[in-house]
Amino acid sequence: MISEVEKIFSEFLEKKDLKLTSQRRTILHQAVKARGHFSAEELLGFSKGADRTISKATVYRTLALLKDSGTLEEHDFGGGKKLYEKAQGRRHHDHFVCIRCGKIIEFENDQIENLQDLEAKKQRFKVVYHSLKLFGFCSSCK
Ligand SMILES: [Zn+2]
Ligand SMILES: [Zn+2]
Repeated sequence: MISEVEKIFSEFLEKKDLKLTSQRRTILHQAVKARGHFSAEELLGFSKGADRTISKATVYRTLALLKDSGTLEEHDFGGGKKLYEKAQGRRHHDHFVCIRCGKIIEFENDQIENLQDLEAKKQRFKVVYHSLKLFGFCSSCK
């Protein structure tokens, strides 16, 4: 899994005349290892834990590259706070977002996916990606 992700990312970097430096590799590994959704600050913490010499600027620049290469997905779950999660090697899913405690619940629903495909076909729209978010209160907040 990691070697495949690493290959895709290094090919992406090559096209931009960039190299998969050891710091970039460390940040990539931390991002892929992270569970669920994480912020840039959290990725900085994980990366510094693995290599103290990694700077905030390097993490933020690498994060942008991870996003552009399709390795990570970026979500705005409200309030302008951006969270990331790995995009490869897992099934597509969508999210419920609790607007009180910030809890994020993932769901997969083939019927919803099919309806979206059907609607896109009707509109003759070619969907490249989508992100469905439903905002409200989780079971402990409602
Ligand atoms: Zn909640
Ligand atoms: Zn998710």
